[in-house]
Amino acid sequence: MVDKNDDLAKLSLLTEDILLEHLKERYERDLIYTYLGDILVAVNPFNETSLYTSQIRDFYRYSTDIHKPPHVYALVDLVYRNVCHGIYERQCCVISGESGSGKTESTKFFLKQLMYLCGGSSQLEQQILQATPLLESFGNAQTVMNNNSSRFGKYLALNFINGKVIGAQISDYLLEKSRVVIQSPGEKNFHIFYYLFDYLPFEIKQMLCLRTKYDYKYLLTNSSLDIQNNGSVNSLDEVINAMGLLNFTDKEQHSMFRILSGILTIGNLEFSIDDEGFTRQNFDEEKVKNNLAIIANMFGVNSKLIMECLTTMTTLTRNESVIRKYSLQSSQDARDALSKHLYARLFSWIIGKINETLNNPYPIQQYHHIVEIGLLDIYGFEHFELNSFEQLCINLANEQIQYFFNQHVFRMEMTEYESEGIMAETLTFTDNQSFLELFMAKPLGILSLLDDESRLPKATDQTFVEKLNYHFGSNKHECYSIKRNNKYSFTIHHYAGKVSYCALGFLEKNRDTLSDSVVDMFKHSQDDLIRLLFHGNPSDGTINSNKGLQHRTAAEKDARNRLTVGAQYRNSLQILMDRMCASHPVFMRCLKPNQKKQAHLFDDTFVRAQLRYCGMLETTRIRKEGYSVRLSFDEFIQKYGLLSKTHSSDLSSIKCRHILEETNLTEWQLGKTKVFLKYYHPEYLEKLMKKYRQAALLIQRRFRGYIARKQFKKLKTTSKTYKNEVNHFCVNIEDINSRLIQTLTRLNDKLPGKTAPVINQEDDLRPRPPVRESSLHPSSHTGNTGTSGKCSSPTTKTSSTTTTPTNTLTANQLMVDYDSLLSYLTLKYGSPGERESCLRWFRDTQYPYVCQKGTFPSWFHGNITRHRAEELLAKQSIGCFLIRLSESRFGFSLSFRAEDRCRHYMINQLKNLKYNVIGEAKVHKSLDELIEYYRTHELSNWDGHLTEPCKADWSQYDHESLMPIQNSVKSQAHQHHIKSIPARPHKVTN
Ligand code: ADP
Repeated sequence: MVDKNDDLAKLSLLTEDILLEHLKERYERDLIYTYLGDILVAVNPFNETSLYTSQIRDFYRYSTDIHKPPHVYALVDLVYRNVCHGIYERQCCVISGESGSGKTESTKFFLKQLMYLCGGSSQLEQQILQATPLLESFGNAQTVMNNNSSRFGKYLALNFINGKVIGAQISDYLLEKSRVVIQSPGEKNFHIFYYLFDYLPFEIKQMLCLRTKYDYKYLLTNSSLDIQNNGSVNSLDEVINAMGLLNFTDKEQHSMFRILSGILTIGNLEFSIDDEGFTRQNFDEEKVKNNLAIIANMFGVNSKLIMECLTTMTTLTRNESVIRKYSLQSSQDARDALSKHLYARLFSWIIGKINETLNNPYPIQQYHHIVEIGLLDIYGFEHFELNSFEQLCINLANEQIQYFFNQHVFRMEMTEYESEGIMAETLTFTDNQSFLELFMAKPLGILSLLDDESRLPKATDQTFVEKLNYHFGSNKHECYSIKRNNKYSFTIHHYAGKVSYCALGFLEKNRDTLSDSVVDMFKHSQDDLIRLLFHGNPSDGTINSNKGLQHRTAAEKDARNRLTVGAQYRNSLQILMDRMCASHPVFMRCLKPNQKKQAHLFDDTFVRAQLRYCGMLETTRIRKEGYSVRLSFDEFIQKYGLLSKTHSSDLSSIKCRHILEETNLTEWQLGKTKVFLKYYHPEYLEKLMKKYRQAALLIQRRFRGYIARKQFKKLKTTSKTYKNEVNHFCVNIEDINSRLIQTLTRLNDKLPGKTAPVINQEDDLRPRPPVRESSLHPSSHTGNTGTSGKCSSPTTKTSSTTTTPTNTLTANQLMVDYDSLLSYLTLKYGSPGERESCLRWFRDTQYPYVCQKGTFPSWFHGNITRHRAEELLAKQSIGCFLIRLSESRFGFSLSFRAEDRCRHYMINQLKNLKYNVIGEAKVHKSLDELIEYYRTHELSNWDGHLTEPCKADWSQYDHESLMPIQNSVKSQAHQHHIKSIPARPHKVTN
């Protein structure tokens, strides 16, 4: 339903009171969204609403109606249409508001709808969506302002080609890692720690040596466990599933949980002092001994070494190493620094790992036009009773975003009107530039002064505040005031209000150092993941790769290590701003209706303050009076030239005028080089362009078909030639190989006292089935086989400590290392378009899992065609299903009988060897598990469940083609195998 006040910029009279009144009146009618021109305002409803149902999703899908009610989906639709029509190369959606106002939720709705619009049925889209629960579990926590507060900032850049998402990249900003060791009153640690206790099965907890959540100091600071639990945001199952879909291997997941358990246990490590007042290396006390043993086991390091690192510091002077004992406080600080660093590095590695999956290499052709949508979800403005370094950084980010908003909405607009000679009303707005100068200026800005103090050995938090008071106090800077009664505090006048900061711990947090001995200890950990985290940049690679090592030179690492947190933060904010400035922004402002997180409560004073500091009134006015859309004459002609029937060789400004006049638009203006349009004009123009676009699509479709057919013919001929060449090459290799084996056997026979090596040709030449690691199951740890054997409980300690860290690569590891599983498989088994390649893939990688004790499960029908599957299922009851080997992919197909027809869903195996129905979020360890799951859960686009398998009649099928080639005929079979490998597809460049 369209409401007359959907867009408040249309009101003839607009004051702060009127704006507030309308927002309140709409909120009371459950209309949480309102337009202020092209800016969307959302008031947090603080309860479940029916605003996001599938009907509403469809209502906004491809909407051509320009008068649809305001909604986050309408914003998505606008952005996505810009993508499809290539209107902007880069767009960014800036969702801002204070903490708890609804930014994260809006970002999730935005992303979900965007993935829905661009198809919503590929693995990548699901993977992008699944990154959210994973990141939330490690990066979000309950705060006094918000039960699921993001404690890090993120910018998600999504790339599209022809309206399809082809990759994504996440940049993260400053995780609040101090939360790992201490939380403010009324707040909790990161969600993931609680998930361990709430959801892990007993045996796994035992394996991780976890007790109860009441036994860990890091979870008990300020009695945070007494805080009312507001329900888990996600469950651990969801998080583990997300990791599965994002290609985290089971081994990596084990390591992650072990690190978390180790961090919690290290928090319990207590120290005592010796007679001289230094920390004692206490190994005798039972409690300390037990904790040390657990930590050593979880981190894969020596327990004595941990104690050493936390009680002493070794400095190298010329040829001597000097050992200094720590005071009690220094030991406690070193322990907490270790925990914080480990967690932050783990988080950063998770982001890197996600990026590795989302940044899929896509074969980009010359004619592909890539466009980007950026989505910024950054922590909101924070003002607590006690505000520390983290709040300072968070509020600085918010100041930057407000500045960007001001720049875009006011400053640039005014400047441009002037230079283009456009008549427009002059507007005043609250500029926060001087605040940014207070922080960013060099050498006399707050961050620079903090860096200076952090470098001085004798400086303290108090001397830092004294310096700030000296340079900015006594009215020297309008945004700064001295806090008279507290020598550690100072007050900053933010755009959103005054905030007093307590500088205690500022210098240490800014330095953020970790002793060399701790780094060195972790570099030699027996756990592959921990080793990777402490070698260079953890966001560079997987456990099994050494990419991180190769990419960073020692000098780079050193330079990075020396940068203070403040300096790193300033740099990353600058990069973010540059990125956003190069994009066309769309804005969404989230408002918090009250501070009690309560539904149906609109606190006028509280909302008014937000409206005021966000400059909402001025924003609305400029949206109303101003020209938010500006296109150069050429751009405008290129986009809308078709709308004019007048064809002339006039100047471009005259051409633009013709177009605008013929479309009957009013209120536009022509500048010296640009067309100035109101925010609602483009939608109208797009509507007029629709018929031309449809015609263009038809022409393109036909032409592309023609080109593709031509290319296909050409490829077919080339492929034949290559195939022959490769076959010839393989025969030669085979020949050389058998001669080599013969020579080796002969040579070995001649060695005194040696038996001839048994070289099993088949084992040696044919690729082996990948080693499967069981998921979070205790049996996989006690067995101590393969790579997972290192995760052992204290009782199996010997096996854990004797495993050497540098194992040879298993097939599993090999697969994880490949950038593209598909190209790897193609190289190994031939083109997936050919039946024989798919069979080869099945025999080699799937047979041992599908076939149990020599028989196939009843639901498996081998490599029957889709048509045959439909014939078989035609007479069956609804839900009857079968799984077959795909005809044209390295994967399976699930076929089942639905109400109206037979349906087919693709099943893929991920890099980490788990299975996933493409387009679905859930991953499964086996096909059996997958079937069991869909017996009780719905597949998307079908609201039924799988019931009975359609039993396979194997007397009718070619059993042999699915069986691994037998040893007795290996030589002959191998010849055949090699000869029939088709040519590897080659890229054809035009
Ligand atoms: P922010 O990211 O701004 O700190 P969140 O997006 O996490 O805030 O929102 C805080 C809480 O408000 C959420 O946990 C949720 O309970 C509620 N909320 C926010 N937006 C909505 C919405 N559109 N519908 C229902 N509840 C919402």
